Amino acid sequence: MIPADPHLPMTTTKNSCSVCGEGLTEATSAICNSCGEPYHLNQRADIPGKDCGEVWIDEGHLALEFACNTCLNPPLEPGGLDDVLDIEEAAALAGVAAGALEAAAGMGALRHRKTGSGTYLFSRGDVMEFREGGNA
Ligand SMILES: [Zn+2]
Ligand SMILES: [Zn+2]
Repeated sequence: MIPADPHLPMTTTKNSCSVCGEGLTEATSAICNSCGEPYHLNQRADIPGKDCGEVWIDEGHLALEFACNTCLNPPLEPGGLDDVLDIEEAAALAGVAAGALEAAAGMGALRHRKTGSGTYLFSRGDVMEFREGGNA
């Protein structure tokens, strides 16, 4: 069974904003040129509205360019999964044996997280720092 994912485009109706998820009306919506999803854009200066993106004139093409906030500000993931290493990966990166790394982690020389199943997880930045420090 697949759990419903509210972020899947398939489940997004065309009249809700792709940025904030709230309802849209004709007068308050635009379609993003980048992802093709609708978003809030207040096209009336005389009524208050919400903007979940921007519109500007492309100087080169003299065409209106629409972009939603999602595309304008791609979410940054400082703790992205690419930066989480298991002990084998971390050991390879640090240039030491997995056992040595585990010992270092046990002594508190290297920030780590031990999961419920006993797996050690490290962050790439910490392992790089450990490597620098170890060779200094
Ligand atoms: Zn919105
Ligand atoms: Zn977009």
